[in-house]
Amino acid sequence: MSRGDMAKPLLGHRSMEGDPSITPAAGRTIGVLGSGDFARSLAIRLVCSGFKVVVGSRNPKRKAGLFPSAAEVTFQAEAVKKTDVIFVAVFREHYSTLCDLADVLAGKILVDVSNNTEINHHKESNAEYLASLFPACTVVKGFNVVSAWTLQSGARDGNKQVLICSNNQEAKRTVAEIAQVMGFTPVDMGCMSSAREIENIPLRLLPAWKIPIFLALGLFLCFFTYNLIRQVIHPYIREQKNKLYKIPIEVVNTTLPCVAYVMLSLVYLPGVLAACLQLYHGTKYRRFPDWLDQWLQHRKQIGLLSFFCAALHAVYSLCLPMRRSHRYQLIETAVKQAVEKKMTVWVEEEVWRMEIYLSVGIIALGLLSLLAITSLPSVANSLNWREFSFIQSTLGFIALVISTLHTLTYGWSRAFDENQYKFYLPPTYTLTLLVPCTVILAKVIFSLPCVQQRLLRIRRGWEKGRYVKFVLPSATGEYSSGESSSNV
Ligand code: NAP
Repeated sequence: MSRGDMAKPLLGHRSMEGDPSITPAAGRTIGVLGSGDFARSLAIRLVCSGFKVVVGSRNPKRKAGLFPSAAEVTFQAEAVKKTDVIFVAVFREHYSTLCDLADVLAGKILVDVSNNTEINHHKESNAEYLASLFPACTVVKGFNVVSAWTLQSGARDGNKQVLICSNNQEAKRTVAEIAQVMGFTPVDMGCMSSAREIENIPLRLLPAWKIPIFLALGLFLCFFTYNLIRQVIHPYIREQKNKLYKIPIEVVNTTLPCVAYVMLSLVYLPGVLAACLQLYHGTKYRRFPDWLDQWLQHRKQIGLLSFFCAALHAVYSLCLPMRRSHRYQLIETAVKQAVEKKMTVWVEEEVWRMEIYLSVGIIALGLLSLLAITSLPSVANSLNWREFSFIQSTLGFIALVISTLHTLTYGWSRAFDENQYKFYLPPTYTLTLLVPCTVILAKVIFSLPCVQQRLLRIRRGWEKGRYVKFVLPSATGEYSSGESSSNV
């Protein structure tokens, strides 16, 4: 990227890493105003990266011992005089106390690292406020998305991206250069009007997770209530039996797999709906409705929550025999058997059901773990597109099929036993099968050659009603070309 390129309007946010115009700046003197947590970590990192550091404090004698000996700690005005680039590691509320330094600060670059306590707390961003207080300075917003901990823990740990914005391209370049030497990845966020957005980033609480978490909680609540009615309320009303003890473990443990299983199917359902829409409209150049777009973007989080519930289900299941209630029930059964002089309780069918049920459950959990691990950015980045899509799409779908087998072996013939219909409510597992089976059925239909070919053509650019040239892979994997007109 040339110097001129920095002046061009940004198309999205660009990483400035590897920018040949960014040259190493180690050796230059950097100023830091403030001697708090952030200033200390910043000074340590700057010193380690080869910069000379001068810290400006209101009380340098008292604070000097907190900084590495290589950093000079002096009065604010003295520090400012010695450098052209100054990190303002002071809270916004105290910016006005720096106004006495306006003359010595004139013409220098001020890096605003501050954060707020609430999203959109002030009318103008902290950086714009700082710029208004010091009009003779050039303000660059940056480094606020990294914490004092990240600064100290080195380039290998923590978030590596430093988002930078400023109205002055030269100043932005200088700060990007410093960030790069410190081992961070500077990301150009454009002009100063982006400062508000950058300041809001550290305050957002899991923005991509909100919808998936609410979805998981909603499903959990529905299935929990359903299981509570069947396992606790029904025996109490019908037989006056107190089964409240089942709530903490048993009811939760029958609810978790339902959530995990349905959530897993919800990872693949939007893909099915998208394919249906493409087939219906006969084109891929039509925008999906917003809700479907959102859903497609949240598949990773939905999948990870599915894995989380499945893992909890596995742990809860392992703990089932540890419960007192379980031990008492075992003893009661043994006593009953002794009284009835029964020598064996072995039911071959039940033995097989349980063996298969557990085995497929373990395999499904293993596959879900694999999907979860490969969704981590560091792992995903080490896979090529084909490997990633094979794991997430093919293995993910296999995990859904195996989870279906797990559910079916759990239910076995209970769906046909009328005693299982408590208050006429079908067993929970029959309900959970609805969405996953729909997804599996749709996938089977999409794999039929006539549907698959049409979908493939649409995804390669063919459109219903348009005359286009298309190239299709033949059964042997070779590509054959052909001409297509409407409704072919
Ligand atoms: P801090 O520990 O409270 O330090 C603030 C420093 O401001 C004080 O040590 C003080 O140093 C200086 N200061 C200057 N004028 C002041 C005044 N009138 N009253 C009080 N203090 C004054 O805060 P911090 O955690 O380092 O945060 C500093 C800035 O970095 C904030 O804007 C914060 O939003 C930002 N930030 C912090 C982190 C983090 O992880 N801590 C992360 C990102 C951004 P002297 O007494 O030596 O003058």
